[in-house]
Amino acid sequence: MKIKAAVLSAPKTSFNLETIELDTELRSEEILVKIVATGLCHTDLAIRDSQIPFELPAILGHEGSGIVEKIGSNVTKVKIGDHVILAPASCGKCSYCKSGHQSYCINFMPLNFGGKRTDGSCPYHNHSGKEVSAFFFGQSSFATYSLASENNVVKVQDDVELEILGPLGCGIQTGAGTVLNVLQPSAGESIVVSGVGPVGLAAIMAAKAAGCSTIIAVDVHDNRLELAKELGATHVINSLNVVVSDEINNTIHPGGVHYAVDTTGRNAVITQAVGSLRYMGKCVVLAVAPTPNIEIDNAVFTMGRSIQYVVEGDSVPDIFIPQLITLYKKGLFPFDKLIKFYEFDQINQAIEDSEKGITLKAILRMPK
Ligand SMILES: [Zn+2]
Ligand SMILES: [Zn+2]
Repeated sequence: MKIKAAVLSAPKTSFNLETIELDTELRSEEILVKIVATGLCHTDLAIRDSQIPFELPAILGHEGSGIVEKIGSNVTKVKIGDHVILAPASCGKCSYCKSGHQSYCINFMPLNFGGKRTDGSCPYHNHSGKEVSAFFFGQSSFATYSLASENNVVKVQDDVELEILGPLGCGIQTGAGTVLNVLQPSAGESIVVSGVGPVGLAAIMAAKAAGCSTIIAVDVHDNRLELAKELGATHVINSLNVVVSDEINNTIHPGGVHYAVDTTGRNAVITQAVGSLRYMGKCVVLAVAPTPNIEIDNAVFTMGRSIQYVVEGDSVPDIFIPQLITLYKKGLFPFDKLIKFYEFDQINQAIEDSEKGITLKAILRMPK
């Protein structure tokens, strides 16, 4: 079938809308999804800028939501017409998957960054018959249709606007899952979140939902800090003006906070975050393209403090994403406040606005 896709042909260039031929002769576990909308995430841009290798030309996009159009012969999880969102791909068979940690699937790299099926075949071709890499995060949702598989399709409630849900599959679950699945704060505990883009704001909303009583947002943009307050931050710090760890340890939460979440990947910021922890406090690092060497001032890293790198919020998407939607419906996780819609052919504008910080979470709507 012919589909429309935003194709990246060379590093650090714009995306072009092209007609692509998609072979819809499905493998037994595959699912064809008619994409309704897709979020734009920082990792798409990390590929564009060659920070993560991915063979070009390619169809990127990995926060897709849509409707099941066709299913392979062995698919039992969903039926045609179901509302779904697409999560990162995982094998479902390795020890990480089997123990509920598919974000660390042993086959994560080939399944999400391989560009083809694992048997080497490629069902996406451009007008001149050349193969186009796809299956980005098991989906390549910058397209009107996506070939996903039973392992990364998440059935969602159909009483919620499907167009807003795609980012729950990556950026939003990363921030929220880090708090709710990994840190698991008790009510009344304290947390600092450094960098309040979409991932950091999701962490703040989750911290509020979990009952944290001190939630500190750190950023260099006052407009983002204002939104952080609206979404649950009890304190905000513009780190251009003060030393974050001093402000926290001396004034906001003497003795330090229980948890820190860093979304920036910058050494100076991570050192401040770890330096804001109480004894035995834990810092989680989330940046996709962090500084090559994390260096932390040893003086702040004593007394049982720890640091961990978390992928995709360490969530089981089939369980966690419906939970986030339930929280959203109850008004406890208002992630829709981060969203700005663009039409699919405005993809390059959406990227420009996101990079300028005008837009927090861009969602591209597919033509009806
Ligand atoms: Zn696996
Ligand atoms: Zn992402």
